[in-house]
Amino acid sequence: MNCCPEKLTRRCFLEQAARLSFQVGLSALLAGCARLQPPATPSPLAPSPTPSAVPTRDQAAAQDATPDRADGAFEPAYVALHRSGELARRAEALWAVMERCRLCPRQCGVNRLDGMSGFCRTPGAILMISGAHAHFGEERPLVGEGGSGTIFLTHCNLRCVFCQNWTISHLGRGSEATVDDFAAIMLWLQAEGCHNINVVTPTHYSPHILKALDVAAGKGLRIPVVYNTSGWERLEILAFLDGVVDIYLPDFKYWDGAMAAKYSAGAENYPEVTGAAILEMHRQVGVAKPNRKGIMERGLMIRHLVMPNDVPARSR
Ligand code: SF4
Repeated sequence: MNCCPEKLTRRCFLEQAARLSFQVGLSALLAGCARLQPPATPSPLAPSPTPSAVPTRDQAAAQDATPDRADGAFEPAYVALHRSGELARRAEALWAVMERCRLCPRQCGVNRLDGMSGFCRTPGAILMISGAHAHFGEERPLVGEGGSGTIFLTHCNLRCVFCQNWTISHLGRGSEATVDDFAAIMLWLQAEGCHNINVVTPTHYSPHILKALDVAAGKGLRIPVVYNTSGWERLEILAFLDGVVDIYLPDFKYWDGAMAAKYSAGAENYPEVTGAAILEMHRQVGVAKPNRKGIMERGLMIRHLVMPNDVPARSR
C-alpha cells in the first residue's frame, strides 16, 4: 500500500518504518523477542555471516539461538579489544576528535579539550552523569530479571522539542564524574545483576565511554554494552565503535527532513544520516541475538518514535 505523500498518517509512517526495519532484519528481532522461552531445537550448526554479509531471515533466526563462544559463555565484543590494547588506542583517537569536535553530525569544530562547548552544550571534555540504576522499563529483551544497567548522560546533540528527559538533555542536570567513576558505575551495575550497560544519549560522550569500558573491562566487566542513541550518528564515528558495542538501540524519528529540522533543532539531514547509520550498525552487529533466556546479548534493535500530539513524521 502506498501512503499519500500529502498527508502521512501514523499508520503510513509505521508502515514505512517497518519497511526499513525489514531491510535490516527487524522481523528476525521481533521473532526472537517474542520467543522468551528456550527454542525447542537450537541449531549448533548455524552459520556465522561474514562481517559485511546481511543474513537471510532464516539464517538470522538460526543465529538468534547461537551463543558467541563454543563453550556457550557469552563474552562482550569489547573484551577482546581491551586485551589487545586496541580499545585503549581507539579511546585515545576518539578523545582527540574533541579537539575540533566532530563527534556528531553537527560537526561544530569547537575545542572541547580546551573547555569549549558546542551545540550540545556539553561542558568541554567534562563528563556529566545524571543517574544510574537497574531499569525495568526498558525494552523487554534488555530487562530480564536483573534489569538494564542504565546510565543517563547529560546534554544532547539533537535536542528534540518533545524530549522526555528534558532536564537531563537540555538543562544538563547531573554531576561531574571521572572516567574511573564511570567505570565504577558500570561495575556496580554488573554486581547488582543487570544484564547490560545501557548508555543513554551517548554520542557526545563516546570517547569517555570507550575509556571507561577499557578500565572496567580490566576490572572484570563482562556484560554487553547497549548504545542507546537518537540514531543520528556519523559513519566515521561509528567505525570507532565497531567491535566495541554489542547492542545498538537507535531511535528512528523522522522520514522528512523538514519535520526533523522543525522539531530537532535544524537537523534536516536526520532521515538520510540516520538511515545510513542504522545500516552500518546492522553491518556491525547483525540482527538481535537473544540468549536462551530471551535476554538480548548482541544485535540491532530500532525504536520507531510516534510524535506526540498527532504530529506526522512527514510535512503535510
Ligand atoms: S558532540 Fe557536541 S560539540 Fe561535538 S560536534 Fe556534536 S554538538 Fe558539536
